[in-house]
Amino acid sequence: MGQMFHQFFGENMLRADVCNAVEELGQLLDHTGPIAASERNAARIFNSDHLYFVTNGTSTSNKIVWHSTVAPGDVVIVDRNCHKSVLHAIMMTGAIPVFLMPTRNHFGIIGPIPKSEFIWESIRKKIAAHPFASKVKGKPRVLTITQSTYDGILYNVEEIKEMLDGRIDTLHFDEAWLPHAAFHDFYGDYHAMGADRPRCKESMIFSTQSTHKLLAGLSQASQILVQDAENNKLDRDVFNEAYLMHTSTSPQYAIIASCDVAAAMMEEPGGPALVGESIAEALDFRRAMRKVDEEWGADWWFKVWGPKDLSEEGIEEREAWMLKAGEPWHGFGNIAEGFNLLDPIKATVITPGLDIDGDFADDFGIPAAIVTKYLAEHGVIVEKCGLYSFFIMFTIGITKGRWNTLVTALQQFKDDYDKNHPLWKMLPEFVAKHPRYERIGLKDLCGEIHGVYKKKDIARLTTEMYLSDMVPAMRPSDAFAKMAHREIERVTIDQLEGRVTAVLLTPYPPGIPLLIPGECFNATIVRYLQFAREFNERFPGFETDIHGLVKDGKNGKVDYYVDCVLRS
Ligand SMILES: *Cc1c(COP(=O)(O)O)cnc(C)c1O
Repeated sequence: MGQMFHQFFGENMLRADVCNAVEELGQLLDHTGPIAASERNAARIFNSDHLYFVTNGTSTSNKIVWHSTVAPGDVVIVDRNCHKSVLHAIMMTGAIPVFLMPTRNHFGIIGPIPKSEFIWESIRKKIAAHPFASKVKGKPRVLTITQSTYDGILYNVEEIKEMLDGRIDTLHFDEAWLPHAAFHDFYGDYHAMGADRPRCKESMIFSTQSTHKLLAGLSQASQILVQDAENNKLDRDVFNEAYLMHTSTSPQYAIIASCDVAAAMMEEPGGPALVGESIAEALDFRRAMRKVDEEWGADWWFKVWGPKDLSEEGIEEREAWMLKAGEPWHGFGNIAEGFNLLDPIKATVITPGLDIDGDFADDFGIPAAIVTKYLAEHGVIVEKCGLYSFFIMFTIGITKGRWNTLVTALQQFKDDYDKNHPLWKMLPEFVAKHPRYERIGLKDLCGEIHGVYKKKDIARLTTEMYLSDMVPAMRPSDAFAKMAHREIERVTIDQLEGRVTAVLLTPYPPGIPLLIPGECFNATIVRYLQFAREFNERFPGFETDIHGLVKDGKNGKVDYYVDCVLRS
C-alpha cells in the first residue's frame, strides 16, 4: 500500500509535506518569514491592505472573519442565500441573523438582493420587526453578501459601501467564486477590492476567496483580504486570535505554496490576459450554442441564460451584461439600474420544458438531472444542476476550446433523445445501479419525470418555498445546542408544520440552505418535503437529496424525519 501511494504521488509530494517546525519556511500561524512575505506580495497583487492565506477553504475563512468581529447576541445582516459556512458561523458565534432576501426566477436561478433591501432605513425596519434583534442595542456587526451568486450575479460594491458605511461595522463579501475580478477592467466596481478604489470612512471591508475554485490553488486554498477604513484599521493581533482558533497547527505547505503561485500568476500582464481569455472562451461557447440553434433549424435546443443578442457590437463590454429593469431574459422584474452584473464566465444552460414564468410546456420537457447524468457518462461533469438548468464555469487557465466536448455531447443527447434510445444503451453505468430503467427510452423517461413536475407545479412551489417567511422561534445557536444535549425529537414530515428545526435543512440541488436551526416549518416547506418523498420513491437515482432529512425505520415504517427541538 505504502509503496503504491509513493509511486503514484511521487517523491516530491512527500518531500514537500514538511512539518511546521521547519523554521526557514516561516510560520503560517503567526505570519512570519517567507510565508509573511508571500502574503504581503499577494496583498499588493489583490489590492488589499492585509491578506491571509487559509489552508482549510473559504468555509474556514468565513468563520475566521466572523469570529474576529461577532460575539453572542450581536445582530448580523446576512444574504438569505449564503453558503452554509456562514450559517455555521451564525450557529457558532451565537449571533442573531436578520436576512436580506434575494429575488428568484422560476428557472430556479437566484437573482440579486434588490438594491432597496440595502437601504439603511429598510434594514433598520427589518431589525425593528425582528423578535430578537429588535431588543439589541448597537449597530449590526457584519453584513455578509454572496458576491457572485451561484449563477454569477454580482453587486456594485461602491454603491453598497455608500449606503452602509458607518451603519454596519464590517462589510464582508463572500467572493468564493470571484477571485479573478480584480484583474480585468470588465468587472469595474463589481467586486470587493480594486486598485484606486475609495476606502470607507468607518466600515472595514473583508473579502474571502476560494483560490482553488477559479485560480491555480490546490483544493482548500483560500484567502482573506482586508481593506482598512479611514478611521478604523485592522488590529492584526486581535484578528489573529480568531485566525488561530480555526487554523490547524499542522498546515499543509503544498497548499500554502499554491496560494503563493496563484497570486504570482495574476500579476500583470499575466492575470489580465488569463481573465480576458476566460471571458473570450465563455463568449465563444455562448456563440457556438447560439449557432447550433440557428443553423440546425431543429425543433428544440438548449439555451444559455444571459443577454439576448451576442452578435451585437460591444458584447465584450460590461454594459451588455448589466441587469436592466424588466428585461425578460433574467425574470427578476424591476431591478435598480447599474446595481448588478452577470459574470459571463459563469454559464447556466437551460433545458427545454419550463418557461421563465414557471409554466411547464404541455408537449415535452427535459429535466436537467437526466441531461447531466448523460453528460457525466460522456465525460462532462457539471458544477451544479437545477430542475431545468445546469451550471458550468470557465475557470482561469482553461484549455482553449474545451467547451467543444460539451456542445458535441449536447448534440448527441438531442439525437439520442429524438430517437428515444433505451437507457441501457444511453446510461449504462446508471442502469447498472438502477436496473429498473433498463428498457425505458430516454425520451420516455424525460416525459415521465416532466409530467410529475408539471402535475405538482414544482417550479412555483420551489420558488414560493424559498421566498416564504421563515419565522425564527429561537436563536440558531440555542437551537443547535439542543442537538448536543439531545433535547430533540425526530418528527416525520407530515407532522412538521409549526415545529422548530434543530438542524440546517439543505436541498441539493441547489445546495442552498432552506431552514436554519431555530426556525419553524411552514406549510409550503412541508408540501415540498412531501413531494420530495413521493418523487424519490418513484424515481430512485434521481432523488432530491435533502441534507437534514434522515431516513429512519422506526415504528416499523420507513419515513423521513427532521430533528426538531423537543417541545417543552
Ligand atoms: C464554495 C463556497 C464557499 C466555501 O469554500 P471552500 O473553499 O469550498 O471551503 C464559501 N462561500 C461560497 C459562496 C462558496 O461557493
